[in-house]
Amino acid sequence: MFRTGVVVKIDKNKVTVALEEKDECEGCEFSRFCNVSKGGRRILCNNKKNVKVGDLVEVGSKGKNILLAGVFNFLIPILLVVVGIIIGLKIWKSELISFLLGISLLILYFLVFKFIDRWFINTGRIIPEILGVLELGNLTVCASCGKTIRRGDSIKREFEDNDLFFCSDECANRFN
Ligand SMILES: [Zn+2]
Repeated sequence: MFRTGVVVKIDKNKVTVALEEKDECEGCEFSRFCNVSKGGRRILCNNKKNVKVGDLVEVGSKGKNILLAGVFNFLIPILLVVVGIIIGLKIWKSELISFLLGISLLILYFLVFKFIDRWFINTGRIIPEILGVLELGNLTVCASCGKTIRRGDSIKREFEDNDLFFCSDECANRFN
């Protein structure tokens, strides 16, 4: 239910966390919040723990959000299909039309839901939170492999006006 990462940017009450692992996006419940770009995976979180850049933190969502996600992802869609079929059967008495109505409602719902979800994320209404601080300090993640490293021991390269940090020469050279 949580991921670890390093705080890389602070913006008022929001923080950007670089997630440690680079792969396994699929099936990760945070993938919709995650910004995958050159330099790794970034995730925007609420900063309720007053963390600083370089802290190793745990990010996650509170139980309430997970429950809501279950309602929106499963319960409402199933209800919509059932309602669509019942209405279709009552009005047209045709199983095919009822079925198509149910499916249309479902597709419409997901389109609207996606739009609202985006809006919620963009306005920062539903975003993950910092659940805990694992280590205070001068940490960062390798922009190439995603490993947690000390800023002091890392190799710094400038890339399109951004300072990027790497764990090794190999990783720095691989990144371009
Ligand atoms: Zn690396």
